[in-house]
Amino acid sequence: MELPIRPELADLEPYGAPQLDVPVLLNVNENPYPPSDAVVAEIVSAVAEAARGLNRYPDRDFAALRGDLVAYLGAESGVQLTPEQIWAANGSNEVMLHLLQAFGGPGRTALSFAPTYSMYPEYARDTMTVWVNGRRREDFGLDVEHVLATIAEHRPSVVLLASPNNPTGTALPLETVRTVLDAARQVPGGCVVVVDEAYAEFRRSGTPSALELLAEHPHLAVSRTMSKAFGMAGARLGYLAAAPALVDALRVVRLPYHLSAVTQAVARAALAHAEELMAQVDGLRLERDALVEWMRARGLTVAESDANFVLFGLFDDRHAIWQGLLDRGVLIREVGPAGWLRVSVGTPEETTAFRDALVEVAGL
Ligand code: PMP
Repeated sequence: MELPIRPELADLEPYGAPQLDVPVLLNVNENPYPPSDAVVAEIVSAVAEAARGLNRYPDRDFAALRGDLVAYLGAESGVQLTPEQIWAANGSNEVMLHLLQAFGGPGRTALSFAPTYSMYPEYARDTMTVWVNGRRREDFGLDVEHVLATIAEHRPSVVLLASPNNPTGTALPLETVRTVLDAARQVPGGCVVVVDEAYAEFRRSGTPSALELLAEHPHLAVSRTMSKAFGMAGARLGYLAAAPALVDALRVVRLPYHLSAVTQAVARAALAHAEELMAQVDGLRLERDALVEWMRARGLTVAESDANFVLFGLFDDRHAIWQGLLDRGVLIREVGPAGWLRVSVGTPEETTAFRDALVEVAGL
């Protein structure tokens, strides 16, 4: 019997990197450091407290969590927001799906610039939004002329810009984001600009956050996640900051009680220990910079990175390199333009294992 699957979904594979059981996992940009025993104990007691009320639906508007996220963003970026400017969901993937549900849809267009995060076209597909992919420059920055021309031509209702970008690590100058925001204002019917800052906490010092632009731009949304710097990928908590009217539109499309009481409790307990959970971020940034330097000294081509991963190459047969590393117990990601590979920054031991394996496999 035939199933009435939408024709555009027929024969598609679900998105996702291979989840393999190998000693060194450097393929999905997680924080390699698990929470400490003390933080685990706090999370357990917060979940126990939540468990006592699990006969009830959770707070639909997650007021307490929003307050905690305001405090965190204020401390992290110096930008003071209000709870009405915060939205959260099960990972920033779901936050961005909400954005496309509210601002995309049939007959509308979403735009980004490749190479970039490969889930963006999937949010568009799933919300029946037309997808347009512009291109980035050779150095993976945005070509402002091209961006403006593409916006003028396609009149998108959503522009998605990852900064730092995945898989390249490239952060955008605020000047560029401002220029895109100005162009978006000219789009008939309106255009929301989403700056996806999943990796923002890893940015190099002096690199600003688009949160600084929120006050002047009601059509800007800055999305963040607890999956990366926070080391809470398993908790599934992503969030964004935007003007209250933009957040209100997302409240319309979310499923009722989409953030479980357990998720809210875990996120709040983790946020209460933000400093401790993020204690390793500075170390990871240093580790990243050292890895970039090492790769360049070995003659590899490496993209500038403000994230917790590095895009490097160029290999005639990148799959062979990926496979050779995997055979030595090191899993990285075969992603990005032809010839490039991406490796997440791990613990010093993991990085050493990766480097040793790469020297062997690539004959460096
Ligand atoms: N944005 C970017 C650029 C990412 O790389 C990722 C994760 N790989 C996400 C968003 C989604 O992360 P999460 O749903 O875990 O918040």
